[in-house]
Amino acid sequence: MERVMEKKPRDSEMNRLDEFINELRQKGLNVTYQRLLIFKHLMKTKNHPTAEEIYREVIQEYPSLSMATVYKILETLTQHNLIAKVNPLHGEARYDGDPRPHHHLVCVSCKKIVDVPENGLNHLPLPEVANFKVMGYRVQFEGLCDECAGKTEPERPALDTEVTFCGKAPEEVKRPN
Ligand SMILES: [Zn+2]
Ligand SMILES: [Zn+2]
Repeated sequence: MERVMEKKPRDSEMNRLDEFINELRQKGLNVTYQRLLIFKHLMKTKNHPTAEEIYREVIQEYPSLSMATVYKILETLTQHNLIAKVNPLHGEARYDGDPRPHHHLVCVSCKKIVDVPENGLNHLPLPEVANFKVMGYRVQFEGLCDECAGKTEPERPALDTEVTFCGKAPEEVKRPN
């Protein structure tokens, strides 16, 4: 097999990359430098980046790559279940280099997404609903990350329905008692 990468990644990364290349071939997709570049970046980051964030990273290595191509590649890889698309709280789509079912913590303020390590969540009882065959699930926990929790006023509960985080506290907000 032709090696496209120059730097030698760590063993686990190498395996993931080999797996990815095999899967591309099995699915009849061309193994292109651009696809490998984007996957390599997704594999490394734990941040579940947006398409634009991925674009900004990969053009450092491949300056002529267009945003449209990045979108197209992300869509193709998502359709073939080689990566996953995550839509936290109906915001902008975010991409996950790990397409296997796993669970997320989502910060409702900064929309940070963090993977939850497997801790029994993969063994929840499946609901039995007529006319619907449940095949899997992903759990999304919503809350505040450490950084954002620090911005809230201490006496307020951590999770309010409409919390806005700005530098100053609103001066004359009437609250029902
Ligand atoms: Zn946050
Ligand atoms: Zn994830």
